[in-house]
Amino acid sequence: MSDWSTEKLHADYAQSLRIDRLLYDSETAHQRLRVFQNPTFGRVLTLDDVVQTTEGDNAIYHEMLTHVPILAHGAASRVCIVGGGDGGMAREVLKHASVTHVTMVEIDAGVVEFSRQYLPALSNGAFDDPRLNLVIADGAAFMRDTDGGFDVIIVDSTDPIGPGEVLFTDSFYGQAKRALAQNGILVTQNGVPFLQPDELRNTMRAFSALFADATCYTATIPTYAGGPMAFGWGTDGAARSTPLDVLEGRFADAALDPFYYTPAVHRAAFALPGYIARLLG
Ligand code: SAM
Repeated sequence: MSDWSTEKLHADYAQSLRIDRLLYDSETAHQRLRVFQNPTFGRVLTLDDVVQTTEGDNAIYHEMLTHVPILAHGAASRVCIVGGGDGGMAREVLKHASVTHVTMVEIDAGVVEFSRQYLPALSNGAFDDPRLNLVIADGAAFMRDTDGGFDVIIVDSTDPIGPGEVLFTDSFYGQAKRALAQNGILVTQNGVPFLQPDELRNTMRAFSALFADATCYTATIPTYAGGPMAFGWGTDGAARSTPLDVLEGRFADAALDPFYYTPAVHRAAFALPGYIARLLG
């Protein structure tokens, strides 16, 4: 009989992934950390059986949180990643030649070390890029103290429980706004609204008090089950309305080879289904 990893994040909904080969299994002080091989998703990282990332579908999540704000901005050179310990977000940000400086603020050095060892394809060398400055600190404390000047801030957090909770507060969003350069863009992971509507509702309430342009966009990521995932978008600039032909030009210049992102998907991602649009208030 095969072994399965069953995620029971929600009271009445679960998803299971078959474990073909268990590569790592450890009970830490707080949680059970496992890496296993699945035929469809490749290596899968779980914490207490909750999927954090997989080799197979992480590109969708990472591309949509990087290429959308960076190509919409058009001249992003200074980028801040909050969280992102597996290195996948840094991998995608550093594909942009326009980016000269990335500050990645991760609270847990263990996640970085573990991912480098067991999931090297995730970061794919990003931690060795001289443009990356890795800061091991709480993202909220960092944001309070930084001089800022970031063109894009990407919040690649865990769910709003435990250390990630502070990254969903009004006060953190306010500090992040202060750390943006003029016309800078803040993007955030906001869960799967069909199953976690309050997470998006709360972020959108905070964003609409802070930004001239506050909305969200979506992408469907198979292992973040339950429908499309929402990404918060906040800026005082007009980057959201960058025309398709301009995005196509920037995309061609950037010479990316994405798995999921296209300029047309970028534009379409802001077209919201009714049940998600209603959460924006
Ligand atoms: N996208 C994944 C998901 O939703 O399952 C999670 C990605 S994982 C890279 C998120 C990272 O945020 C973890 O490495 C975690 O240690 C980090 N993190 C959590 N709270 C944090 C905080 N307050 N400051 C900085 N990093 C934090």
